[in-house]
Amino acid sequence: MATDRPLTIALSKGRILKDTLPLLAQAGIRMLEDPDKSRKLIFETSRDDVRIVILRATDVPPYVQYGAADIGVAGKDVLMEHGAAGIFEPLDLEIARCKLMVAALRDAPPVSGRLRVATKFVNIARQYFASQGRQADVIKLYGAMELAPIVGLADRIVDIVDTGNTLRANGLEPTEMIAEVSSRLIVNQASMKTRHADIQAITDQLAAAVVAQRG
Ligand code: AMP
Repeated sequence: MATDRPLTIALSKGRILKDTLPLLAQAGIRMLEDPDKSRKLIFETSRDDVRIVILRATDVPPYVQYGAADIGVAGKDVLMEHGAAGIFEPLDLEIARCKLMVAALRDAPPVSGRLRVATKFVNIARQYFASQGRQADVIKLYGAMELAPIVGLADRIVDIVDTGNTLRANGLEPTEMIAEVSSRLIVNQASMKTRHADIQAITDQLAAAVVAQRG
């Protein structure tokens, strides 16, 4: 990968973008345009040598893994599901906090035999139930996980929980916590060598911004 192209930072819209931009601003990197008001995917920044690409959250790890982006911000859930090959994770940005949980219908009876689990986090779910020595059939869904136990598609779901309101509104309750989630700074392993000074400086400035945001 040529090193004369701008340093490329991959972000995703929504919570991560909203909470990451103030941290990047502390590191002297500002977007010149509001990405929420644009259909563009590549954005210039206040630094000539830095650009930002806006991706789907699940696409951030592969862009960084293969070096199409040097740096990215991704939720721990997305990183756990993708796997860590080719990626360094130098900093917890302590933003977009939530929990990855197993949930079931309120007062659901214990399941004897194989558990049916609906989730978009199939790798995490398989690993989690295997680590517990429980047999599980994992069904991949792309959204509305909460519906699956209600209509009898699954006994359990694995999903992101923040306030728990979505679960409660659908008659579900969390049963087990798999992991605490927050967004992480991720870095391509080759870029960490070829652009070390730049990336280290940004990482240090972001680390200071994270401490400052604790208040
Ligand atoms: P809540 O009703 O507050 O528990 O939020 C649950 C829903 O919000 C989940 O189904 C997720 O889709 C979404 N959500 C909450 N927190 C996050 C986060 N940090 N990252 C991504 N999605 C989240």
